[in-house]
Amino acid sequence: MADQETKKIEIEAYLYSRKAPTDQQKKRLQNFLEDQYHKSVEIIWKEDANAGNGFRIEAGPSIPGSKWSPDKIYDWSAAGKSRQLKEQIKQAMRGRGDVMSLIQQTLADFEPVPLAEEVGAVLTVGDGIATVSGLEKAEYGEVVVFACGIKGMILDLKETEIGCIIFGDESEIVEGSMVCRTKKVAGIPVGEDFLGRVVDALGNPVDGKGPIKEADYYPIENPAPGIIDRQPVCEPMETGLLAIDSMFPIGRGQRELIIGDRQTGKTAIALDTILNQKGKETICIYVAIGQKASSVAQLAETLRRRDAMEYSIIINAPASDSATLQYIAPYAGCAMGEYFMHMGKDVLIVYDDLSKHAIAYRTLSLLLERSPGREAYPGDVFYLHSRLLERSAHLSDALGGGSMTALPIVETQAGDVSAYIPTNIISITDGQIFLESDLFHAGQRPAVNVGLSVSRVGGAAQTKAMKKATGAIRLDLAQYREMEVFMQFSSDLDDATKRQLRYGQGLMRLLCQEQYHPYAQHEQVILLVAALGHVFVDIPAPKIPECSRGLLAAVRDDLTDLCTKIDCTGQLSDEDRQTILDYARCFFKQTDKAQ
Ligand code: ATP
Ligand code: MG
Repeated sequence: MADQETKKIEIEAYLYSRKAPTDQQKKRLQNFLEDQYHKSVEIIWKEDANAGNGFRIEAGPSIPGSKWSPDKIYDWSAAGKSRQLKEQIKQAMRGRGDVMSLIQQTLADFEPVPLAEEVGAVLTVGDGIATVSGLEKAEYGEVVVFACGIKGMILDLKETEIGCIIFGDESEIVEGSMVCRTKKVAGIPVGEDFLGRVVDALGNPVDGKGPIKEADYYPIENPAPGIIDRQPVCEPMETGLLAIDSMFPIGRGQRELIIGDRQTGKTAIALDTILNQKGKETICIYVAIGQKASSVAQLAETLRRRDAMEYSIIINAPASDSATLQYIAPYAGCAMGEYFMHMGKDVLIVYDDLSKHAIAYRTLSLLLERSPGREAYPGDVFYLHSRLLERSAHLSDALGGGSMTALPIVETQAGDVSAYIPTNIISITDGQIFLESDLFHAGQRPAVNVGLSVSRVGGAAQTKAMKKATGAIRLDLAQYREMEVFMQFSSDLDDATKRQLRYGQGLMRLLCQEQYHPYAQHEQVILLVAALGHVFVDIPAPKIPECSRGLLAAVRDDLTDLCTKIDCTGQLSDEDRQTILDYARCFFKQTDKAQ
């Protein structure tokens, strides 16, 4: 003791760190410095909140009467280490011209050193979620990198910790491991090379056809275009399905919901719409959320076989993927669509389906300990879909005039459209196509319920020819539905009513359409003109598909110019209408005679 008191302090060393060192640590540092200086050293601790997990020592001789200044600084703070690494690289660049060996050396010496205030530590990890402490300045939606290289995205900011969703195998992340900020929001690579490919929710190819060269990098969360940036929806986006194009036309830039129970042909409608875009310079994006991998593989194969894959992209987050990937998949698809929309192209995006997306988000929210609301969904589940669907737009000409049409799909339980998620999405979209199990099983496919379906864009999204041809089909069908109940008494009905019923039945039969056989515009116009002109009334309902096929083939041969005119100009004059009617009447008279 006496020895120590009399020992003269020759070196003073100031230790800056966030926490006070233990006696043992202090002793080790003292020994280290005494070895360096060969003099006695005194360590004085000063708190430095910015030192992060590291520390810094400033040491210098203590000369009585003169001002102390350090002559050596040992910087083991994260910032210091990265500075040192930069210095090393600079030195190496000066000394050597051999780039390869320089890179090898740099890689060999490289130790990832994040800046002090941007490093946190994992508190808990599990179920695709990690809670992290120490990232005080992190932002919502920012990407973070875990020590093992896996990325995550911040989805929850609390006072003392943050919640991240993990994009990858969480088993590699351990409690206490380091997490770094990137100061970037999550994004996805985009580009033309993605056409014809199947990718996962992060844009990585999953079809085994090698890497994809990206043209750009788009944030997955992007604000929707404002009012000035948009123009009204006025161009048709034909689905090729008579039941939809005639009564619930969809415009470019519109959001039309496809809603129905399981196995009612929801995906089939979206798929036919994609097939119908062939040769129309529309980019199609199909986002599969929480589906069976086998269904998606089958869909991709169908598109490939029908040469539709070359203008399509499939984003697949199957049921086996984590809720995290299922949650970001539609946003990633939307970002890809935006890339093409900003280039002035027309895009069709299908979200199949948003009920599973809501369920994935509910899983994440519950794991993030947000309070559950109705049906255990979090309070912001409306915003979840509104911010996604609002990104579909028809851009103004100043912005290139591109468009993104969205066909979100929602699955109902036992036809209940008043459940939480269906009502939410119905109120966001510009209309819905309601598919009914009963109709589907009765053979009415596509099983569109004409009474409950609606398109809020309406006639603005139809060509003049279609508008003229459709006439009062909705009204006729509504009348038929009302009279349908009298069908059971058909023997007691008068002839006029019987004829009216036959007419309605014929119309319903005409609206049935085989899968993968979308109609061209002129075909729809011809069928509608003929049907509304009561041409099909005397034909028994089961024969209508065959007769309509025959009529179309005959018209294509005999009235080729008219067909081309309708397809190219979208116009139908009164004379043209009369020509079609006369031709159809004549055609059926001849076939009747032939039989
Ligand atoms: P899920 O709820 O499983 O997603 P879904 O509502 O998407 O089902 P689809 O998979 O599109 O339904 O269709 C179910 C079945 O009905 C499929 O086998 C499909 O081939 C058949 N189908 C759909 N539309 C038609 C149609 N217009 N004509 C004949 N068959 C059809
Ligand atoms: Mg489906």
